[in-house]
Amino acid sequence: MRHGCARPENAYQAHLLRMLRNRGPMSRAELGETMSLSRTKVAMELDRLAQLGLVDTGGLAASRGGRRSAMVSVAADLRFVGVDIGATSVDVAVLDGELQLLDRLSDAISIRQGPEQVLETVLQLVGKLQGNGLAPRVDGVGVGVPGPVSFLEGTSVVPPIMPEWHHFPIRDMLSRELGAPVMVDNDVNILALGEMHAGTARSVEDFLFVKLGTGVGCGIVLRGNLHRGPNGSAGDIGHLQVEDYGPPCACGNVGCLEAFFSGAALERDALQAARSGRSPALADRLAATGSLSAVDVGVAASGGDPVAVAMVRDGARRLGQVLAALVSFINPALVVIGGGVANLGHALLAEVRSVVYRRSLPLATGNLPIVLSELPAEGGVIGGARLISDAVLCTPRSAAP
Ligand SMILES: [Zn+2]
Repeated sequence: MRHGCARPENAYQAHLLRMLRNRGPMSRAELGETMSLSRTKVAMELDRLAQLGLVDTGGLAASRGGRRSAMVSVAADLRFVGVDIGATSVDVAVLDGELQLLDRLSDAISIRQGPEQVLETVLQLVGKLQGNGLAPRVDGVGVGVPGPVSFLEGTSVVPPIMPEWHHFPIRDMLSRELGAPVMVDNDVNILALGEMHAGTARSVEDFLFVKLGTGVGCGIVLRGNLHRGPNGSAGDIGHLQVEDYGPPCACGNVGCLEAFFSGAALERDALQAARSGRSPALADRLAATGSLSAVDVGVAASGGDPVAVAMVRDGARRLGQVLAALVSFINPALVVIGGGVANLGHALLAEVRSVVYRRSLPLATGNLPIVLSELPAEGGVIGGARLISDAVLCTPRSAAP
């Protein structure tokens, strides 16, 4: 039986666990070939991981002529919890050591209820999932929150849409209550990690994940690792200034990208277009439902409403200008656009692509796909589990946080 704080003891063990987590069960021979290690070395490290309770050494693989090689997998009883806290809902899921989703629960919240109440809901959901016997013990918890996060401290710092959370010890509180290691990151980075594990970005080492939601942010993955910067604020592209003058932004400045183009900006512009009578389609929608959102703009644009089409195209053009600069600067292999506002229809992607391909240098855009995320709704909880499993499963004990 595994001890609660079992961790890989060296870089070989961490690498073996990472491969088994990402690729599923492998034979000892395959592991040795992929890592260019001798059979003896692989056997020694795997025996130690089995003693630690971190891998299962099961049946024999199909013979390839020589001696049959035993199959190895991450321990079947490893359990990670992914928590995706949004502005209006929270998702909690239990995943196994290969980050396969075992069960998931959601609940409606308001982020403005404050950390005590929202985290109480999280704990209740974890309790329910544990109650059904899926996760008698939790090996680690990864949490995404919709605001800037000091990654080292596990707290949110001056979060615009959730001021009550400023410096609240999210990580320490959950770790104490659940008796497991916890890591906290912003929702954009969590989604980028989910994309890396289960989405289009599986096959690339360097990519940008742009989240279009109420706000706009970018996860930067370089050589397979998230780039956060020393303060954890890397990728906060929503507040890059795209005009000297322009609409006021939640951050206190004017002319920020997300003040022009985001879920919040589209809602503001849609209401204005409906009330002024410039867009009959949006006015009808407002009269029918009493509110407007980015989804309504997408529907009106797909239906050919010229004002809605212009809103999507203008916003996408500004996003494209920012992305063109980022592409020249980072040279990613892939750009993925996701988040609740990403599905505005074909016009969004067409305009972003056209600006990026026109404005970036050919060497940077030669083979650059710009695509919409195909990640399921579970992307956030998968990313949370990926975050904490990187720390407890794939980092040698001496280097782990
Ligand atoms: Zn701003």
